[in-house]
Amino acid sequence: MTEDLLDDAAVRFLEACQHAELSEDARERLRRPNSSLKVSIPVRMDDGSMRTFAGYRVRYDDTRGPAKGGIRFHPSVTAAEVTTLAFWMTFKTAVMDLPFGGGKGGVSVDPKELSVAELERLSRGYIAAIADVIGPDVDVPAPDVATNEMVMGWMAHEYAKITRAHQPAVITGKPLALGGIPGRSSATSDGAFHVIATLRDRVLADVDEPTAAIQGFGNAGAQLAQRLADDGWKVVAVSDSSAAVHDPDGLDIASLRAHKDDTGALSDPPVGEEIDAEALLALEVDALIPSALEGAIHADNVGDVRARVVFEVANGPVTADADAILDDAGVEVVPDILVNAGGVTVSWMEWVANRQGEQVAEQDVSARLEARMVAESEAIATLADEQDLRLRTAAYVHALNRLGAAIDATGTVATFNGTS
Ligand code: NAD
Repeated sequence: MTEDLLDDAAVRFLEACQHAELSEDARERLRRPNSSLKVSIPVRMDDGSMRTFAGYRVRYDDTRGPAKGGIRFHPSVTAAEVTTLAFWMTFKTAVMDLPFGGGKGGVSVDPKELSVAELERLSRGYIAAIADVIGPDVDVPAPDVATNEMVMGWMAHEYAKITRAHQPAVITGKPLALGGIPGRSSATSDGAFHVIATLRDRVLADVDEPTAAIQGFGNAGAQLAQRLADDGWKVVAVSDSSAAVHDPDGLDIASLRAHKDDTGALSDPPVGEEIDAEALLALEVDALIPSALEGAIHADNVGDVRARVVFEVANGPVTADADAILDDAGVEVVPDILVNAGGVTVSWMEWVANRQGEQVAEQDVSARLEARMVAESEAIATLADEQDLRLRTAAYVHALNRLGAAIDATGTVATFNGTS
């Protein structure tokens, strides 16, 4: 599965290379990650026993700035998965024109099996293990699946202890009280909402009250469901790892969020009917919004998809082979490297504020986020029209043009063989 992911990333890269003005040097540089670190993290468990966990940090490319990318705690984390996610981050930061490269980290663990104290020891142990390869000017981690503000706070604190210096810019997504930024926890869903609003006329021009099905009711998916419902969308189905809930007339998202906050799961929902998890992907809706994990829509289930457009809030939720089938079927896919880039965009604002020792007001964060998401969405749509590309390819080309320019600014073959 994860090796396939790397293959999928390569398919997208090679396809975009055909349409971008990219030197051979840039192509060569972007083929492999700059550095990959695998660590073992010993953790003292509450019962006194010792367990070691496998952790990873990959810096894919840092030509445009320090590597940037989240830390994932999940049993499926492998070196290949982290490398693929770091590759996507390289393109995401370039899509948004942020002064960052791409990185990613993770620990192979089921955090639900750990007590809070064990989770703290693991978080601190992970940072101790990777401290040599991160830093505000080197590689800047952030939250991802199953890591949250508190985990980032522990990690920033541990880094300060190790380096004996207060360096909040080493990690973003921290609690406000530890140098976080207002609006970070809703940044991914806010950013996705702005992309959807900007492209709505392009992909769903003829619909007044669009319908949506959202797979993944976590940080990103649940908040986006709320924003869409507040904006007049009919969110007819949502799911998490415990259950999928459906109401063709539109779900009351606020009550589902309250239920999930109370019980920790969507199962036994107060509204709607429970349906099969796969049935959510097959609903006849205007927009299908996968917001859980990668590979949700693959060759075996893509034939069931009846949505008109897919907005990828999760990273890599549509495999490359399924993507080609959706394209043939005329289903527009708006890619992850644009749709979910709001998180890293607000992380960039947090990093800047930390370095300057400033605080930023929430309205400034949200105004700057909206302006950037709208501008880059429009730029990608224009590029798609000009070069007759799918939105995914256009987003990659948009990023590659910026990455290629940065790499070429350090010299190309023509610089060194005297032909320039
Ligand atoms: P999260 O852990 O808060 O939520 C993930 C949700 O997906 C949970 O509700 C979980 O129960 C659900 N889920 C897991 N497996 C499922 C399945 N098979 N079917 C249905 N639901 C399932 O994570 P998140 O932060 O919301 O991230 C979700 C996705 O968005 C990930 O791919 C992540 O990489 C991506 N993303 C998140 C951010 C961010 O800032 N949170 C930024 C960029 C990208």
